[in-house]
Amino acid sequence: MQTPFIQNHQYNYIYKQAEFLLKTLRSVVDPKVLDTVRYTVSTNAVGLFQELTLEQKQLLEQLSTYNTLHDVQQYLNQLEGHLIAFPEVSAKQIQKLFPKAKKLKVPDLESIDYAHTTYLRWTDIATSRLFIVYPYEGRFLGIEGRITAANKKGYCMFCHRHQELGFFNVKTKAHSPDNFSSIGQYVCMDHAACNHSITDITMLERFLLSTVK
Ligand SMILES: [Zn+2]
Repeated sequence: MQTPFIQNHQYNYIYKQAEFLLKTLRSVVDPKVLDTVRYTVSTNAVGLFQELTLEQKQLLEQLSTYNTLHDVQQYLNQLEGHLIAFPEVSAKQIQKLFPKAKKLKVPDLESIDYAHTTYLRWTDIATSRLFIVYPYEGRFLGIEGRITAANKKGYCMFCHRHQELGFFNVKTKAHSPDNFSSIGQYVCMDHAACNHSITDITMLERFLLSTVK
């Protein structure tokens, strides 16, 4: 067993590169163009990482060598074995993150696909509350707010995919405890789809951090 080194959003990004390669294989006949795409997808994959061992780099570069859907799928399956899973979190830890939530409904922690989770989220439908747990600098951040179905499709703030959206509104402590304000964003309604689409955590982190500061 090798040390996991790929985060979920990085895997999603590599997945998109693989889709791009497959699309090119289906449509492009010019070998020079194909060579350029092969070079681009592997450079993009390697470029995601600050540090790689030689083995890890070679594994990522392998993406450029495939010719068939079957081979690319096998390769992606192999990469899944290198995913860094969302850190273990207990129901008790989650409850501590949301001290004000009465009768907090913690999600079924056994049913979560941790390898493909960048941020843990669930909705309490009865109260229209969206809860997010996110690992940040060795601890967990807990963010909750109201989610309202927007009944329209648009670009999710977190994953940038065109999805069915909800408006997520979070109360923040501005400067003093009496001075509440709130910030809101349009985000995916579907928890799993968002985690399968996210390729960059910049906006997610910016939003989450702005609610806790
Ligand atoms: Zn999303």
